[in-house]
Amino acid sequence: MSISPRKITHQVQIGDIKVGGGAPIVVQSMTNTDTADIKATVNQVMELSKAGSEIVRITVNSEDAAKAVPEIRNQLNQKGFTVPIVGDFHFNGHKLLEKYPACAEALDKYRINPGNVGRGKNRDPQFQQMIEFACRYDKPVRIGVNGGSLDQAVLTRLLDENRQKENPDELPAVTREAIIVSALESAARAEEIGLPANKILLSCKISNVQELIRIYQDLSKRCDYALHLGLTEAGMGSKGIVASSAALSVLMQQGIGDTIRISLTPEPGTARTQEVVVAQEILQTMGFRSFTPMVIACPGCGRTTSDYFQKLAMEIQNYLRVSMPSWRTKYPGVEEMEVAVMGCVVNGPGESKNASIGISLPGTGETPVAPVYEDGVKTVTLKGDHIAEEFQALVERYIET
Ligand code: SF4
Repeated sequence: MSISPRKITHQVQIGDIKVGGGAPIVVQSMTNTDTADIKATVNQVMELSKAGSEIVRITVNSEDAAKAVPEIRNQLNQKGFTVPIVGDFHFNGHKLLEKYPACAEALDKYRINPGNVGRGKNRDPQFQQMIEFACRYDKPVRIGVNGGSLDQAVLTRLLDENRQKENPDELPAVTREAIIVSALESAARAEEIGLPANKILLSCKISNVQELIRIYQDLSKRCDYALHLGLTEAGMGSKGIVASSAALSVLMQQGIGDTIRISLTPEPGTARTQEVVVAQEILQTMGFRSFTPMVIACPGCGRTTSDYFQKLAMEIQNYLRVSMPSWRTKYPGVEEMEVAVMGCVVNGPGESKNASIGISLPGTGETPVAPVYEDGVKTVTLKGDHIAEEFQALVERYIET
């Protein structure tokens, strides 16, 4: 499947980040702290921002959380973090925005779930109030439909219409349609209330990959709003990563999607930032954006004598990722370089020559030397017990020069 041109949607300004309208696809994430715990939330927002999250969402589900929001923004600003903060609201969002204007002002965007806040056209005073606050404070809104909390009024209405056709096989299609209609009708209602199209983003998240793809393909054809992609409840570990990558890659290849969030359940001991790294890696491997130099490493096989080369590849990757924040302004374009770490001469020299800098480590039966290539030319051959350290020094020198 060749890459399709990006669908040009209405561009939404969220803090200092542009989403849609042809802007680069934005990576975002969400905290899992109690927002009322200011210190923990500020720390996690900073951690996610440092990892590369360009927008961070926090839950605003209680009075204590709403009271904490201005101070969270204040502390982030003092520490030099300008990352836009999105408030995720629930059934009491309208009350919190009314009672805590400083919270309404401090947030850069509101997220509203129409299944959780309103009950359809003319029966959604809470939804209306939320949109009126967005207009008053000049904030964009994401209307985020979730398959698990679908607006039951919309579903019931479409089910009733469908029953008249007496086709039981239509049920999944009706559910899909209800998810899309809930988003589109809510967006139309928001525009009626006065929120312009370039202040509205839509998302329709469910946990089934094929259904998610069908929903977004349909949604993208039926509107020009900026779209936030995400597979909800993607799951833990490799399952969540694979499912999210599969769904989002297909959609982005078709030109659909303006911002992505990878919803991973962190495994115990796993960094919260993993979902940001995965989102960046999806975008970079698909060729949409560059975030950090790519490490190309072979999988290893019977020709590798030990796990030495895997360790070297891992060390180089970690070093590059950790160094990126300080390199971003110092070495413009560094994120586009490739570093090859290969296990033997079968594919080593070829891949190393194609990379910006690459090393081919000795496999079984080979002379214990490691040729290094820079921009396709062999520049040095490393030997002895310190090949890893010497190669890392060469990578640093390459970047500096
Ligand atoms: Fe095996 Fe060499 Fe290929 Fe790596 S490059 S997978 S070590 S044959």
